[in-house]
Amino acid sequence: MKYCENCFAAFDSPRCPLCGGRKVREIKEDDYCLLTERAAAEGEMLADVLRGNEIPCVTEPSGCGVRTVMALPLENRKLFVPWRCFSAARTYLREIAEAETEKWRQYLLENADKLHLSPKLEKKIVKKSRGACGESVIGFCKNLCALAERIEDGGTTYGRLGDGHDIICYAEIATAIIDSATLEILSVSFKKH
Ligand SMILES: [Zn+2]
Repeated sequence: MKYCENCFAAFDSPRCPLCGGRKVREIKEDDYCLLTERAAAEGEMLADVLRGNEIPCVTEPSGCGVRTVMALPLENRKLFVPWRCFSAARTYLREIAEAETEKWRQYLLENADKLHLSPKLEKKIVKKSRGACGESVIGFCKNLCALAERIEDGGTTYGRLGDGHDIICYAEIATAIIDSATLEILSVSFKKH
């Protein structure tokens, strides 16, 4: 396995896949590698879970975008772990994502009778679905929640009223976004064939 000191990346090719650089060397057990990049709060939470499992994890702020409306920094965290812990850290991330999926699935299914959407959006989704969701977008979304491969908290979208988060349900046929507080279906996008 090779390593790029510039990108903190591990890879198996003569060039760094991130920067295209050729200044690569054999990776060492203690080289810190970029594990993932997340929103600040989530990134710190994940780093704490890893440290709690005896994986040294270093975080670094990244992303200097600014939310134009509120002029708040849109801050992310990059997470780094030593190469010797990399594969264990990946496994933890996967387990955390699976636990989160099941937590949201349970929440959405328990509250499925509160799912709703505007008539205008319903019409639009029925049309876009080309028959996939029949006449009931709500029924379709319940199924989507039950079958989704992954459900995650997408954080808040600025300009939104209330304190709900975007719950994103990724299923084979479509991706739905649901407001966690109001249970309003905000969008359904179908995979292109
Ligand atoms: Zn690189």
